[in-house]
Amino acid sequence: MFQQLMEEKDFLAFTLANIDKVITSHSFTLSNQTIVKIHDNGVISFTPATGSTKDIVLSCAIHGNETAPIEICNDLIQALLNEQIQTEHRVLFLIGNPDSILTETRFVEENMNRLFSGAHSKGEGLCNKERVRAKALEGYVSNFFLDNHVSQRIHYDLHTAIKPSKHEKFAIYPYRPGRSFSAEQIMFLAGCDVDTILFHHEPTTTFSYYSSEQFKADAFTVELGKVMPFGQNEMSKFANTRKMLNHLITKQQVSVAEFNSDRLNLYKVSRSVNKHFDDFTFAFPKATVNFTGFKQGEVLATEGGKEILIEYPYEAIVFPNENVPVGQRTVLCLIPAPNEDIQ
Ligand SMILES: [Zn+2]
Repeated sequence: MFQQLMEEKDFLAFTLANIDKVITSHSFTLSNQTIVKIHDNGVISFTPATGSTKDIVLSCAIHGNETAPIEICNDLIQALLNEQIQTEHRVLFLIGNPDSILTETRFVEENMNRLFSGAHSKGEGLCNKERVRAKALEGYVSNFFLDNHVSQRIHYDLHTAIKPSKHEKFAIYPYRPGRSFSAEQIMFLAGCDVDTILFHHEPTTTFSYYSSEQFKADAFTVELGKVMPFGQNEMSKFANTRKMLNHLITKQQVSVAEFNSDRLNLYKVSRSVNKHFDDFTFAFPKATVNFTGFKQGEVLATEGGKEILIEYPYEAIVFPNENVPVGQRTVLCLIPAPNEDIQ
């Protein structure tokens, strides 16, 4: 089973070729003494012989059609297996939803990034591959972080967005009551060209919130651009992201620029607009990009014969979707966040 992987060092190909097989855990040691362990389909870790001060989780394909992050992770895995690079830290790679890579869809039955922090087991009678997988991924992350007590835990959950965005790359900083936001982490992301940060305002069922909340990891949902099929990503757009992730793995410390809010777009959620009536309709055109801003008093949407207005002097929108069931979120509204506790 592992022969093809050992020859080609292509973990994505191995994962997709063995999608319906049971993979029992398998370890081997590279000539540079790094221990490689395949835990499951799409789950591989690298442990250096000594010196690790960070535990790093890099996940991709939580949405299967978001191909750029899959290529970035697979290239890093290949370079590690080929010993072109050598990791200084424990690193766990997760290819989240291989089934939906094969179907070239965001998910097969259910959006996996709404299934973490136990949501996979809520709702009686509901069981599907995404729920089983989300629960298993939680287990791999938990085992990985709890297996070692190092100074820093990091989890970047890598995505690309459905809609085009005014800010091409952005990251969602999960809600973390009682903990300051990390200037070093924000500037690391800026070095990846992810210069827009959205501070979230409440607990969620995303993968990054799970790692942040459960393990006090520096965790982010990182949106690296627009969804494209395999082979159609302009990989030059990801050069800085790849370089920084490479440095993160291969260097004891990554040097980042000093915190400078002038280099960043910092937003926080002002409100989440939920749908109350079936006729909910946005006032802006479908082609409106993420982070488009509106002025106070402008009409955001109409429903049930009423207008929903922009409430703040300036509000930007992100993740608009009017085709959700009544009761669910249609859009997040954002306001500038110049005064967050960033240290
Ligand atoms: Zn995604």
